[in-house]
Amino acid sequence: MDLPQNAFKRAIGAGRTQIGLWSSLSSSYTVEVIAGAGFDWILLDSEHSPNDLESVLGQLQAAAAYPTTPIVRVPWNDMVMIKRHLDIGAQSLLVPYVSTAEEARSAVSYTRYPPAGVRGVADLHASLGYPGETANPKVKPLIDDAIRRIRRAGKAPGILTGVEADARHWLECGALFVAIGADVGLLARGADALGVDIIQECPVTGFRIADGRVQGVETAKGFIKAGKVGLAVAGHAGVMAGLAGFRLPVTSQPLQALVSEPIKPVLDTVIMSGAVHAYVSQSDKGELVIGAGADRYIGYGQRGSFQVSEDTLGAICELFPSFRRLRMMRQWGGIVDICPDASPIIGKTPVEGLYINCGWGTGGFKATPGSGWVFAQTIANERPHALNAAFSLDRFRTGYLIDEHGAAGVAH
Ligand SMILES: Cc1cc2nc3c(=O)[nH]c(=O)nc-3n(C[C@H](O)[C@H](O)[C@H](O)COP(=O)(O)OP(=O)(O)OC[C@H]3O[C@@H](n4cnc5c(N)ncnc54)[C@H](O)[C@@H]3O)c2cc1C
Repeated sequence: MDLPQNAFKRAIGAGRTQIGLWSSLSSSYTVEVIAGAGFDWILLDSEHSPNDLESVLGQLQAAAAYPTTPIVRVPWNDMVMIKRHLDIGAQSLLVPYVSTAEEARSAVSYTRYPPAGVRGVADLHASLGYPGETANPKVKPLIDDAIRRIRRAGKAPGILTGVEADARHWLECGALFVAIGADVGLLARGADALGVDIIQECPVTGFRIADGRVQGVETAKGFIKAGKVGLAVAGHAGVMAGLAGFRLPVTSQPLQALVSEPIKPVLDTVIMSGAVHAYVSQSDKGELVIGAGADRYIGYGQRGSFQVSEDTLGAICELFPSFRRLRMMRQWGGIVDICPDASPIIGKTPVEGLYINCGWGTGGFKATPGSGWVFAQTIANERPHALNAAFSLDRFRTGYLIDEHGAAGVAH
């Protein structure tokens, strides 16, 4: 993570004059108004204004959106005051009543973590020079020992940790009160776990690969770093595999569907014929939804050929001669990716960390929940789930093909 840069400190360090405004009204609304007015800095006064920690926090948040530096004048040159203001995010402090070199040294030490200063963390790990590293092998045995000795002395040892295994370990050492997390940490981790970004209108244009391992994806909006990448691009699977430097045994073919003008209810089920090769059902709006198999040539156009729609409609009319008088309202086509054995590929690729889910052909909708679930398992565990183990890319090398159209849920 990049630390926020202190523009004010840099500017005065470079000898550039900084014009500011004193803010004493203790109001986040006031700060929001003046923060956008073009001042280099704003002083939030806690020494002679009715500010408390919470009101200063609100003013810092209000100022954060603007190109100005908020400086907090703390009420006193006091370790606790300074620590608490730093903890809520104040980056620049004005410390009153610093009259001697010793007072200046103290003020600075209150802003530095051990061993450089005395800020906040007065724990063993910080004193040993490993701030925050309670699991460090140089720190952990000392914590264990301290817990055991405090317990032997008849007192109650306690500790805070966010790691369940450490909590169990210190309970075994004799700790009597153990906090196993903090609300802020839980919220941050929970929010992080939800961190799914859907970036629209952002095609992947390539892969960054080093030593056979994927490093991330190049996109039209820039590079996205990623240790693992899952590809589920259906008709474009072969194109994307080409960009990653390997070939897939899939062909991309147009598949089309047609919708008739709406009519009164005539069909309450899906009719699918393998003999004449077509399917038809009626939507709630009354339209007949009609389709068949993929076009017989490779293509990336999002439309189907006239020959297939003519054959399909001929087949439907053979099944239902009365449909002959209907007009088609619209027709559209997509691209489907078809494997030689008509079964999907879900698993690893020759590029380490790059996974693929493709080859669903004309029947991938209905499989999406299950296919997504085993794909996620495969990526998380870096090995396939038992359900998709056989659907590997490797089967086209070993010859263990899955010669059943039903595997992709296609009945036609
Ligand atoms: C006309 C038609 C009718 C169908 N009818 C049925 C049906 O009745 N039942 C059924 O089960 N299945 C049906 N299917 C098949 C089904 O649509 C597919 O199998 C399924 O959508 C595949 O899901 P997917 O998530 O793998 O790919 P898709 O749903 O195709 O999604 C792939 C996504 O990847 C995106 N993409 C491609 N290249 C890039 C790139 N370079 N960068 C970023 N994104 C990219 C695409 O824009 C697309 O949004 C039909 C398909 C068609 C065309």
